[in-house]
Amino acid sequence: MTDTRKFLRQCVNCKEYKNKQDLIRITKDFIGGNIQFNNNNQINGRSVYLCKNSECIKEALKKKKIEHSLKSQIPENMKEELYNLLKN
Ligand SMILES: [Zn+2]
Repeated sequence: MTDTRKFLRQCVNCKEYKNKQDLIRITKDFIGGNIQFNNNNQINGRSVYLCKNSECIKEALKKKKIEHSLKSQIPENMKEELYNLLKN
């Protein structure tokens, strides 16, 4: 039996498990503590995942779910980029 959850990641907002391709990955790197988009898996660190839909992005920003999960403020330019995604 295979555990499908092994290949899935949980959205920080809706708590649904999805394929990595369907999620935005944000990582706080272990060394510098920088918080960055990490969809190419270049950064090692603590990650949060967010659905690529406006509902989850909006809610996560409003309720500071990314911040809570990473225990850090997310950079302003990242918030802007997330808001920009909402417009598309
Ligand atoms: Zn979600």
